[in-house]
Amino acid sequence: MAYDKSIAAFEEAYKVIPGGVDSPVRAFSGVEGTPPFIERGEGGYLFDIDGNRYIDYVQSWGPLIFGHCDAQIEASVIEAVKRGLSFGAPTTVETELAQEIVELFDSIDKVRFVSSGTEAVMSAIRLARGATGRDNILKFTGCYHGHSDSLLVEAGSGLATFGTPSSPGVPADLTKHTLLATYNDIESVQKCFAESPDDIACVIIEPIAGNMGLVPADEEFLKQLRIICTEHGALLIFDEVMSGFRASLTGAQGISSVKPDMVTLGKVIGAGMPVGAFGAKAKIMAHLSPEGPVYQAGTLSGNPVAMAAGLTSLKKLKANPELYVDFTAKATKLMDGFAKAAAAANLPLVTEVRGSMFGFFFSEKAVKNFDDALDNDSDTFAKFHKGMLDKGVYLACSSYETGFICTQISDEMIDETIEIAYEVMANIKG
Ligand SMILES: *Cc1c(COP(=O)(O)O)cnc(C)c1O
Repeated sequence: MAYDKSIAAFEEAYKVIPGGVDSPVRAFSGVEGTPPFIERGEGGYLFDIDGNRYIDYVQSWGPLIFGHCDAQIEASVIEAVKRGLSFGAPTTVETELAQEIVELFDSIDKVRFVSSGTEAVMSAIRLARGATGRDNILKFTGCYHGHSDSLLVEAGSGLATFGTPSSPGVPADLTKHTLLATYNDIESVQKCFAESPDDIACVIIEPIAGNMGLVPADEEFLKQLRIICTEHGALLIFDEVMSGFRASLTGAQGISSVKPDMVTLGKVIGAGMPVGAFGAKAKIMAHLSPEGPVYQAGTLSGNPVAMAAGLTSLKKLKANPELYVDFTAKATKLMDGFAKAAAAANLPLVTEVRGSMFGFFFSEKAVKNFDDALDNDSDTFAKFHKGMLDKGVYLACSSYETGFICTQISDEMIDETIEIAYEVMANIKG
């Protein structure tokens, strides 16, 4: 494939945008080559400015569960645009979207909308601290919860790709309140609580981690986590910004029996528009301004155009719950295909699937936590990524990201992808 126009565009972008990108992982730093610049999407395909076509397994990093340019979502957005882009005043579409979410999630009585996953988690943490009157929070190594200061500690994907455990510009005075435990390791959690038994406001976790590759939490681990949080009066926050509406209609909560105290959402609820949300039982949400003293606000929060996109998307998902059976079947077929291709090329590969989410590591052993994930063969991944891209398959450009199936990925597209994977893997070995 020729990438001449994209390479030129990247050089131009580099002059005026740091690294040429508005979010670091887009820069292709962990893989070979430079990023294709996208002209448009159509269903399950992406088209770059050189005219190359790709099967899109990234889907804007998760939001596009109906693929690109879904007719109904597009129509509702255009209708909303015609009424005005933003009012900074209440609209009924916010209530409608809130009602859909409250109806779906047992753990949510009330929900507030913001404009990104980062904002959702940052606000949920403030609310947890405000509601409990405690400062410390506990997170897991390799889980990513957006780029707010308190959470930018050992945070997976973009940071793992760049080998930066945390970031300059984040005062140690802030991160000293962030305790770190190991994913799927309850003893590491017990240790944190032993050191800080009455000061932990909340434990935040991706119940299905998607930012160190796809690494689901064990059910028993989540159960123990629930018990410890309840014992110590710490709130359990499920960050389902990625897994929400992806792993199942209700995310990890549709798969696990464990119920959190608070939930953060994003990605799919905006269907490609900037939306995040955080919700909990009414008693916790009552601490939030203007009902309570914990401040949180946003000029564009609950933006009517973004709400319209999210509402249409959620209604479509709710009306077609069988979609998740299809997503799982397709993701499983894809991962089984990759596994067979790897075996044929004598490459070690481990795979995971949760609903429309899939992940794979060039690794000998199952991945249970971030250290396991770091053991993957990232050189082989880089070669695989480049080979697939050159043959028209757009995969996430880091071995620490999750892939996605959308309604517009057909069985034929998956067959084609597997065939290409056989070729590419065979070449890596040869
Ligand atoms: C993507 C993501 C975020 C951050 O969301 P943004 O919209 O990128 O700010 C937070 N938590 C999880 C689990 C995510 O996957």
